[in-house]
Amino acid sequence: MQTPLIDPFARPITYLRVSVTDRCDFRCVYCMAENMTFLPKKELLTLEELDRLCSLFVGMGVKKLRITGGEPLVRKNIMSFFQAMSRHLDSGDLDELTLTTNGSQLGRFAADLAACGVRRVNVSLDTLDADKFARVTRWGRLDQVMRGIDAAQQAGLRVKLNAVALKGFNEDEQFTLTEFCATRDMDLTWIEVMPMGDLGNEDRLDQYWPLKDLRARYAERYDLVDLTESSGGPARYVRLTQTGQKIGFITPLTHNFCESCNRVRMTCTGELYMCLGQEDRADLRAALRDHPNDDTPVRAAIRDAIDRKPKGHDFDYSRQQVAGQMTRHMSHTGG
Ligand code: SAM
Ligand code: SF4
Repeated sequence: MQTPLIDPFARPITYLRVSVTDRCDFRCVYCMAENMTFLPKKELLTLEELDRLCSLFVGMGVKKLRITGGEPLVRKNIMSFFQAMSRHLDSGDLDELTLTTNGSQLGRFAADLAACGVRRVNVSLDTLDADKFARVTRWGRLDQVMRGIDAAQQAGLRVKLNAVALKGFNEDEQFTLTEFCATRDMDLTWIEVMPMGDLGNEDRLDQYWPLKDLRARYAERYDLVDLTESSGGPARYVRLTQTGQKIGFITPLTHNFCESCNRVRMTCTGELYMCLGQEDRADLRAALRDHPNDDTPVRAAIRDAIDRKPKGHDFDYSRQQVAGQMTRHMSHTGG
């Protein structure tokens, strides 16, 4: 085992989120433009390269690996990668292997994921209305995702729903989504829309529904108990006393969560972003490809990057304009 990764602000880096593809079978309006140009295949890390890099991180103390994208389950042969990563669960070096998915392919893969040691999965779902679902995802079908959620639960995976809070879109579904999760024994987390990527006509401020509004609406209907637990990330949780449900709020724009940040993100091209809201990154692919048989320089590149992890991000909607906007899409860094 190598020396653990600790950043300049004494935060241990124990959580790696890895985007394994920039492609997706949906085109969610807040995430992608309708006509996306995707990366040529040679730009992507191969599954073997992804394995090598992730394994180096695990060797340096990363305990939790979240696979994301794009849509991770549309990457060809992705199950072989999950299978490869499961050896780190077996050895005890990794505590958790998990993924964030739009759910469209869970019908095919839920059982295989469970067999690879995946215990929990985050499924993104913003509406329970089939027409609205088709509108917000542009290409998605709600029934397919519902079958995916069924398959995941049947395979014994714990499902958490992530819903992006969108003004004028799912405000009327706050309680239907909450009740749906209660009936299915799923946690629910609301995500505030973030200024990622240039989406053409979509206006960020038009989509922005602050989570403090959702919280206030919950408080009118339920008794809320603040939970102190933290995953080291931007989510804050409450329990609804009447149903016992845990509801999460991811509020990167209205809550400063950076002080407890324990994570870094790797893109499918091997760029390591030390902060979701800053442009600084390290090119791990170059280190990897320049040294096919020697991990020492790759580890050095990782440590170098962690030494540059900034204190925090600069997103801000407070002045009625989008400050700190990032030009890259969420599907690039992985949400
Ligand atoms: N395709 C998978 C999915 O949808 O779950 C994984 C990747 S997706 C980029 C990860 C998460 O980011 C999803 O929950 C999605 O809703 C969220 N997301 C995408 N664009 C966003 C944005 N501009 N603001 C906030 N959340 C966003
Ligand atoms: Fe695809 Fe996920 Fe982005 Fe939707 S949010 S377009 S499902 S990557």
